[in-house]
Amino acid sequence: MGCASRKGKLVMHSQTKPVVKQKLCTACGRCVVNCQVNAIKIDEKAFITNKCVGCARCIAVCPENAISILWNESSETLKKNDRACLWCQ
Ligand code: SF4
Ligand code: SF4
Repeated sequence: MGCASRKGKLVMHSQTKPVVKQKLCTACGRCVVNCQVNAIKIDEKAFITNKCVGCARCIAVCPENAISILWNESSETLKKNDRACLWCQ
């Protein structure tokens, strides 16, 4: 991602949202307190709401590795909505 433009990175981050693997989540709440936009809620298990801006901090702080980005689905979303790289236009 080092060669991506600033616009491309912003598009990528804004549209690339992580998901919580429900089986692994212990509802410890660490991701909730570390989310800067209050995008994570817990209802028995954590889940990520539409407020997420894709910063990926929750992925780094989860002690169970329960949060990840589904890159295949995300890239499809990027292809549908916009091009991430201005050089390709
Ligand atoms: S940090 Fe991980 S284990 Fe803890 S609530 Fe969030 S997703 Fe679940
Ligand atoms: S990626 Fe960032 S904004 Fe989205 S839920 Fe995780 S910590 Fe919050």
